[in-house]
Amino acid sequence: MVRGMTAPRTGGWLARLGLGEQHARAIGGVVDHRLARRALLDEFRRGRLRQDQVCDAHPELLRAARSVGEPAAEPCPVCLKPDLVLVAYAFGPRLPSHGRCVATTAEWDQLVRTARRTPGAFSAYVVEACPSCSWHHLVRTLPVSRGEAVAARSSKSG
Ligand SMILES: [Zn+2]
Repeated sequence: MVRGMTAPRTGGWLARLGLGEQHARAIGGVVDHRLARRALLDEFRRGRLRQDQVCDAHPELLRAARSVGEPAAEPCPVCLKPDLVLVAYAFGPRLPSHGRCVATTAEWDQLVRTARRTPGAFSAYVVEACPSCSWHHLVRTLPVSRGEAVAARSSKSG
């Protein structure tokens, strides 16, 4: 499927995550962080925030962005380079406190299966990051499971 490198690589699985996911629609609670992102960028463009205050991505996030990041549909809002990528992190019981990077749809499916059979709430964060200037911002948060619904899930539908 990955033949031409010239085609714009937009609308990847991370870009869609939480918008079209059937289970996320069923669970609800997807939070879009675009407004907060826009407000922060406005402050930066008005000179109220320095670049080092908005471009302070953690080295671990930048490493993930370089290795498993999915190219974003837009260029970086700060340095305008086409290097902006999306990275997803999962949080939940038995996962690292700083989250676990979810790099592929296969890993995502695995996470959903784990969340369904594990008590406690799992959530996912989609983050955008620019390896060139270290800009980063939360794009979307979504639940992977409702902790209290895990036990009842197999016996009920609708
Ligand atoms: Zn940048």
